[in-house]
Amino acid sequence: MKQSFTLLLLALLSFNVYAQPCGIGAEDIEIMTQRLIGYKQSIKEGVHQDRSGAMTYLPVKIHIIRTTEGTLGIGEEFVLESLAALNDDYIDQEIQFYIDEGFNYIDNTATFQNPSSIAGSTLLRNNKVNGRVNIFIPQTASTGGGGLETGVTLGFFSPTNDWIVMKQSEIRNISSTLTHELGHYLGLLHPHSGWDAVQYDPGIHTPTPTFAPGGRATENQARTGSCRNCETAGDLLCDTPPDYNFGFGWNDCNYNLNTLDPCGDVVDPQEINFMGYFLRCEVDSYTFTPNQKEIMDFVVSQRRQSNTIFANLTPSTVETVVGDIVPVVPLDGATTFNSNSVYFQWERVEGATDYIFEYAPRVPGLSSATRVFLTDGQNDILIEQPFNPGQEYLWRVYPYNQSSTGAGFSEIFSFFPGEATSVAQLEEVDSFEIIPNLVSNQNEVLLNINSTNAIDIDIQLVNISGQTISTNRMILVNGQNNFDLSVAGLSNGVYFVKLQSETGIVTKKLLIQGN
Ligand SMILES: [Zn+2]
Repeated sequence: MKQSFTLLLLALLSFNVYAQPCGIGAEDIEIMTQRLIGYKQSIKEGVHQDRSGAMTYLPVKIHIIRTTEGTLGIGEEFVLESLAALNDDYIDQEIQFYIDEGFNYIDNTATFQNPSSIAGSTLLRNNKVNGRVNIFIPQTASTGGGGLETGVTLGFFSPTNDWIVMKQSEIRNISSTLTHELGHYLGLLHPHSGWDAVQYDPGIHTPTPTFAPGGRATENQARTGSCRNCETAGDLLCDTPPDYNFGFGWNDCNYNLNTLDPCGDVVDPQEINFMGYFLRCEVDSYTFTPNQKEIMDFVVSQRRQSNTIFANLTPSTVETVVGDIVPVVPLDGATTFNSNSVYFQWERVEGATDYIFEYAPRVPGLSSATRVFLTDGQNDILIEQPFNPGQEYLWRVYPYNQSSTGAGFSEIFSFFPGEATSVAQLEEVDSFEIIPNLVSNQNEVLLNINSTNAIDIDIQLVNISGQTISTNRMILVNGQNNFDLSVAGLSNGVYFVKLQSETGIVTKKLLIQGN
């Protein structure tokens, strides 16, 4: 007896492992089915508010789950590319998704490995942001039904928690899993609903049973006559043909086993449907049917009315980000004028409000890059750290905005740090401010320097090419020091104010505009 129980358990385990790439549990499917019946009824009764062809922007909250040490999280560029692919899939429905207020990071190793544990779910709930599509990205998406952690689950939508969990490796622009999960989020079932957890097996299911393993009627192929049951079977939609979960594991895009439905008709599934499990069709060939689109359209309106998606939120811009990154300084392959700090600037990219800036030494093998996020259109950055003279460094930039995220990283540029004038930081200077930092129509700026010691310093004004414009000597007292630095007659652009003593150096950027 004990042995057969073990065998049964193994059989159940392997079934789950094999047949649940989307990981929506049986209870969740029942909830979603009842909701879909309600949506169809409302549409029939004319409740549906037409969005009249206007593009609807839905705010998405991206939660990147990492280890407790803050490591191994998905690279933000994959999220950006994935959202761009998602928006390509939804553009013909006048639905676009945009990143609301950047990325949220959740650093917890247990949740990173299993977001469906009780502790994991609690953490997700505490991070969920109301009124947005919440997408959590851990290493492994375990099943939404709270069951097995399989590693096979690619992602799932939880109708009770109203969030999406996506396995890290599925956040790729070649994957349509995110599009599929958003389909669930917007009300759709699998075309093979009823067979979600149990895949059709000719050895077991011939002749095909009238009731699917999930409990409801097996959908027939016929769309007319007495065999027609598409309104109440499968995904309850008549323009998606029946499917008994033929797709999972099928290795091309043409199902040809001539499986018969309970009425004796050959079942011909739609392999290229986003909501199915056929994973081996051309990436660009996947589609939603008109009935699926009608449901999603209704659910978008309904979610906005019921405030599960706030209708008053809009992206800061809907401009498309176009254009390559063109370095202003350092130019590709250039040697910078010192190695204490390097100032980077590139030409503004049309539409871009945000940039991921990344730099790293070029070393054999893998090197970890330093990544900085720039917002509000800032297209430059001063990195104050000792660079290694003679070492080649690489850098690149990813331009994007909330709704246009598909531009990708720029090509890789390189530079060599110049000789160090003085590598050390000027330790005595506690704080150093230039007032104002952005100058227009002024003859001088105020340098506010707080020193912990009485020392002699040189104050150098340097242009973007590293040429010294002026040098002034000053004796700092212990405490506050003020110095009026002349900027009269300077043309517009970026300058640097360098404070240098015998022991160290400190640099600040000064921007002159409209002088
Ligand atoms: Zn699914």
